[in-house]
Amino acid sequence: MPRYDFRCRACGATFEVSRPMAASGDPATCPQGHDDTVKLLSTVAMTGGAAAPSGGGGCCGGGCCGGS
Ligand SMILES: [Zn+2]
Repeated sequence: MPRYDFRCRACGATFEVSRPMAASGDPATCPQGHDDTVKLLSTVAMTGGAAAPSGGGGCCGGGCCGGS
């Protein structure tokens, strides 16, 4: 089932809704209960895929995942 991203214009939250494509245009209610939401472009279009940060992993610099 496709997922759609919505943004709440009342509180600014973005959230994702899974729904049938036939219902893609239906209004969504934000997790905070606001009805004033707008549908965004897909997450894929928003985030791309080549823009992922490179490097060895954000939290590992200090050895927090070193295991010892
Ligand atoms: Zn909201």
